[in-house]
Amino acid sequence: MEASIMDGPQRRCGAVSGLTTVKNPISLARLVMDKSPHSYLAFSGAEDFARQQVFELVENEYFITEENVGMLKLAKEANTILFDYRIPLGMESCSSGVESPLHMNGLPISVYAPETVGCVVVDNQGRCAAATSTGGLMNKMTGRIGDSPLIGAGTYAGDLCGVSCTGEGEAIIRGTLAREVAAVMEYKGLGLQEAVDFVIKERLDDGKAGLIAVSNKGEVACGFNCTGMFRGCATEDGFMEVGIWEQ
Ligand code: ASP
Repeated sequence: MEASIMDGPQRRCGAVSGLTTVKNPISLARLVMDKSPHSYLAFSGAEDFARQQVFELVENEYFITEENVGMLKLAKEANTILFDYRIPLGMESCSSGVESPLHMNGLPISVYAPETVGCVVVDNQGRCAAATSTGGLMNKMTGRIGDSPLIGAGTYAGDLCGVSCTGEGEAIIRGTLAREVAAVMEYKGLGLQEAVDFVIKERLDDGKAGLIAVSNKGEVACGFNCTGMFRGCATEDGFMEVGIWEQ
């Protein structure tokens, strides 16, 4: 698991990777930001830091669920790496003991989502923050690090906005997607949704990812070029909205 967090106005950040026993990686990322002299800790060093901070650790088995074992089996059979919402090539025909290959937990695999969670917030003084936490891609190589713990790629917050990305990490890293939204706002003077649309169109390979964003004016935006993106929005006056497909 891996995660990162960034506080926009103060430009403080923390990130962790390679965790196997830390129950809440995003809270450890926050502790890296608040209580360590560094921005990013990984593998055994990150777990040692968690122990020093008397952080909640669990046996690795805690994270192993029947659903994910099933998905991993399917991914291995199809010799593919899975990310959100895609039916991997060859999957339709593969045989498996875990439900139908096209269904998992009663959901079609095309809307099966992994555990990446992103959160962007803005307070009543226009201060933005962003955080992202993930187990990464299903059937990834050992040692693979994605975009989620990388400040500027999967997570970014500055004076103007906060951004969190989801999707194929390699494409998000190539596009430095989260920072790019802030950069086009800063340097091209675009509004939040315009900046999101520009970045999804111009900086991201087709069908790969999506992102959520807030601005220091309290605007909320999202964009994606994969089939769907699970998302929700809540404001202090009680407005709430959820979505999966295009707006
Ligand atoms: N972006 C994550 C990664 O590549 C996966 C995800 O968002 O679902 O590790």
